[in-house]
Amino acid sequence: MTDSPGDILRSVFGYGAFRGQQQAVVEHVTAGGDALVLMPTGGGKSLCYQIPAIARQQQGRGVTLVISPLIALMHDQVGALHEAGVSAAFLNSTLDWEQTQDIERQLLAGQLTLLYAAPERVGTPRFLGLLDTLHAHGNLSLFAIDEAHCVSQWGHDFRPEYRQLTVLHERWPSVPRIALTATADAVTRADIVERLQLQQAEQFVSSFDRPNIRYSIVEKKDPTRQLLQFIEREHEGEAGIVYCQSRKRVEELAQTLCEAGIDALPYHAGLPADERQRNQDRFLREDGVVMTATIAFGMGIDKPDVRFVAHVDMPKNIEGYYQETGRAGRDGAPADAWMAYGLQDVVNQRRMIDESPAGDDFKQVMVAKLDALLALAEATDCRRARLLGYFGEAMERESATDSIAATDDSTATRGSSGTYSRWHCGNCDNCLHPPEVWDATDCARKLLSTIYRVQQMSGIGFGAGHIMDIVRGKATEKVAQFGHDQLSTFGIGAEFTEPQLRGVLRQLIAIGALHVDAQAFNTLRLLPDARPILKGEQPVRLRAATAPAPRERVRKTR
Ligand code: ADP
Ligand code: ZN
Repeated sequence: MTDSPGDILRSVFGYGAFRGQQQAVVEHVTAGGDALVLMPTGGGKSLCYQIPAIARQQQGRGVTLVISPLIALMHDQVGALHEAGVSAAFLNSTLDWEQTQDIERQLLAGQLTLLYAAPERVGTPRFLGLLDTLHAHGNLSLFAIDEAHCVSQWGHDFRPEYRQLTVLHERWPSVPRIALTATADAVTRADIVERLQLQQAEQFVSSFDRPNIRYSIVEKKDPTRQLLQFIEREHEGEAGIVYCQSRKRVEELAQTLCEAGIDALPYHAGLPADERQRNQDRFLREDGVVMTATIAFGMGIDKPDVRFVAHVDMPKNIEGYYQETGRAGRDGAPADAWMAYGLQDVVNQRRMIDESPAGDDFKQVMVAKLDALLALAEATDCRRARLLGYFGEAMERESATDSIAATDDSTATRGSSGTYSRWHCGNCDNCLHPPEVWDATDCARKLLSTIYRVQQMSGIGFGAGHIMDIVRGKATEKVAQFGHDQLSTFGIGAEFTEPQLRGVLRQLIAIGALHVDAQAFNTLRLLPDARPILKGEQPVRLRAATAPAPRERVRKTR
């Protein structure tokens, strides 16, 4: 007896209808086609291979092998499948020898519909032998490769073990494959296709819009205080994740939040395994826990009611940002993605790239990806449109009006330029509080010419603090020591405040007019793109340094 995919959806999983692209994917894969599925977190990727697995098992085609990078994820999925009455198992390092043998026996006896395994296992001769046996008996039905972006070094979570998954295709070319990911920009996507040899696979690309997530990016001043305010004003007593760059910062911040009466826990890879597990369990099971964490936390965490994701340090690129913020609001209710970012973030991220042992090609891609994130952070127009644009998606009118709390300006029409910059989602900081924009051309020229002159006079570069002192005409010891008070630009920008100058420097770095030399005490160097600005040929219009007033509380409307 064989059921249609729709029957399986209803009878096994208890859902009334497919979502988005699910039906198309399920039908294609059940019929034996290869697929690459791009679907945002929470979009329902699992059913895209679980239903074909069940359908193909009913057709007598045997077991589906699911490659999954995380043990916790495998456990959750297999547990959920058991509850739905589907025979599934996993093979991973948590099993002892006897358990492993037991699973292998079930596998060879054709008792399993889905088998989950980690990518590193696929490389072992024993496992390959098992698959050979299954295949010889026509019992190897489908390969599903979850979190497929792990195969790409351009993705944000490269796992070398994924590279060996090409063996599946090479050794058993007749077995259909489906690869799935929640995040992939054009570069990563092309890399997945090439690495996993999915040139023939049909691509199913869903909209990456998460209309219930409100994106806000604020200028970092006193991040701890800003974060506390954000949580207290908008998310008191609610569950959230706060991402930080370093383990030390994670622990400090957890403590600070606790002292402020917020139920916060730390999570990073340096904590003992039992403490990590305990904290994760509390986050998942209890209400209103805030996890302060490094990016080690989150993959495979399926908590529907995370009300906010905050970044107190900037991620590496937009994919990471999108993936991390995507953990908010999986239940579809309003949620916030909030980030504080400042000059130091730009400097740190550039330095990490510079100092990495990678080759120049790799660094170039990383810099380009970082620049795209900086452009998002500096944007004065709709963040959502920018974000979606980065993933190759033009924002549709529908997604604007569908989004919660559609405001009057959500009726914006496409601008004559045809770009998405005119779109107003009505649910990001820039749409809700259009930022003040000022003509920073004069300020930028003063800074750039000071950097140029200082370099000429002293033969070495200087950091942002010293440059700002000169521009503002501050007679510090260091200024006197180098005779920089003799420069013609000394004090030419006395009318600017330090935050203004800092903001302009940050944005000049972001647009590639300035380079921060990490090898030389973070000194600033002019790049070719500084020329047209210096010569007055290119205006610089920037966000005003003043952050918009905090928005009203929205929780009551939920
Ligand atoms: P992803 O892996 O893409 O993040 P999941 O496969 O974990 O998403 O699905 C997210 C949630 O949506 C799960 O709770 C799942 O049961 C639910 N879901 C998936 N498809 C449907 C559907 N067609 N109807 C209702 N709920 C669904
Ligand atoms: Zn917007």
